[in-house]
Amino acid sequence: MVNLDLVVVGAGTAGCMAARTAAKAGLSVCLIDYKDAKSIGDKVCGDAIGKHHFDNLGLSYPRGEELERIIMGIKVYSPDMETVFKLSSEELHGFIVNRWVFGQRLLREALDAGASLLDLTQALEPIVEGGFVRGVIARDRRTGSRVEIRGRVTVDASGYAAVLRRRLPPEMEIETSINKRDEVLCYREIRILKSEVDEPEFCQIYLDLEAAPGGYYWIFPKRDNCVNVGLGVAAVGGFPNPREQLYKFVLSKRIFEDSRLIHGGGGVVPTRRPLDSFVGNGIVVIGDAACHVNPIHGGGIGPSMMAGKIAGEVISSVLEKSEPSVENLWPINVRYMKTYGAKQASLDVFRIFLQSLTNEDINYGMKYKLIMEEDVLKAGMEGDVRLNITDATRRIFIGLGRISFLRKLYNMARKSKAIKKMYENYPQSPNEMQEWRIKVREIFGSG
Ligand SMILES: Cc1cc2nc3c(=O)[nH]c(=O)nc-3n(C[C@H](O)[C@H](O)[C@H](O)COP(=O)(O)OP(=O)(O)OC[C@H]3O[C@@H](n4cnc5c(N)ncnc54)[C@H](O)[C@@H]3O)c2cc1C
Repeated sequence: MVNLDLVVVGAGTAGCMAARTAAKAGLSVCLIDYKDAKSIGDKVCGDAIGKHHFDNLGLSYPRGEELERIIMGIKVYSPDMETVFKLSSEELHGFIVNRWVFGQRLLREALDAGASLLDLTQALEPIVEGGFVRGVIARDRRTGSRVEIRGRVTVDASGYAAVLRRRLPPEMEIETSINKRDEVLCYREIRILKSEVDEPEFCQIYLDLEAAPGGYYWIFPKRDNCVNVGLGVAAVGGFPNPREQLYKFVLSKRIFEDSRLIHGGGGVVPTRRPLDSFVGNGIVVIGDAACHVNPIHGGGIGPSMMAGKIAGEVISSVLEKSEPSVENLWPINVRYMKTYGAKQASLDVFRIFLQSLTNEDINYGMKYKLIMEEDVLKAGMEGDVRLNITDATRRIFIGLGRISFLRKLYNMARKSKAIKKMYENYPQSPNEMQEWRIKVREIFGSG
């Protein structure tokens, strides 16, 4: 039995950042991961991260083997391929990383700060005593034996598995399950093409609901002729298999002729607003486990690290002077909601709207620029969905018999603004949660 200040389950981007921050502040921290130390960071991903995340977190930029490509922007293609939004600004500068090397760097930084690592250790369930989480019961994968790892605070950073969150008792008031329709199933491959893609400093995103219902497919350029190509579909109704869709609609394109497969694999992304609350007595949930992902593009590396840093800072200041009760850990919720959660929630409204459209709607919307390129950028960065509906476009849409589409668009923009405000005014204490929750549900439920 081990007794620590902080036990972090999962040495992914969220867990490493939480461990690094807390260890730097002087806490005794143990990271535990299912994988062996050498495989940590090896995750099926699109490998893209915005530069601003490195700036905000004080992380050095990727370089050497870790850096696959510097990115200057994104090209978004309409389903009929007739309209391309070419988005490029300082805010969209970023990197395509070698995900494994990047993950190993984050792990090393956590260990260098003083955290320890129990690898090949599978967390099974939280230890709950006296209304507090006091650590985890785990299985040592080398010996098969059960171990107890105790800590004053436990962080669930186990990604989509959310191994602790799913087993929390209801009195913790943390959602234990999330709706399938808020998940996107992805399949991606790393391939070497015969030649480099055009404009390799741009990531390519294709909106095509026939190929990727409720999601999109992407081509992200890596080093030289290598690309990361993938497709995600919303887990709604009888959704198709993303691997089959990728082969049928994307890998059949001419640029993939005679390309060589390096690696293929799948994964699930929770693409919704954050959990209403991700702290309880002795427990904090971060990263994919808490739905800290951009609902529009599914990017979760940046927000998961942000949540890890906030969690590490608040936990260390709480443990200095008091017990890790839900009230004392609450500032983790407040800080995350105000920085990223508000944007995430407003983009969740946009995501639900987009998932209700047809290819035709998207073709028209992009062709007539109902949202301008710079406003798409603003929406992506800040969560502000601004419309560009002029008298001329209104007349065109009336002529096309599509005025109800404009009405839906107005409604979405109004809702997204209202929800952003709610999250910016997130309750300062758990006592005010019930009222806030009711109001949020009302806005999401309204037509
Ligand atoms: C196909 C795909 C493409 C994506 N593309 C991008 C992209 O381009 N850019 C971007 O920003 N985001 C992308 N994402 C999302 C991003 O990968 C995640 O949001 C991010 O990695 C979340 O980090 P995390 O630390 O919460 O979880 P993870 O990185 O998943 O880490 C969880 C860790 O927990 C460990 N673990 C799990 N269960 C247990 C257990 N029982 N016991 C012990 N350890 C356990 C795992 O081994 C793992 O190391 C993509 C996701 C997918 C699936």
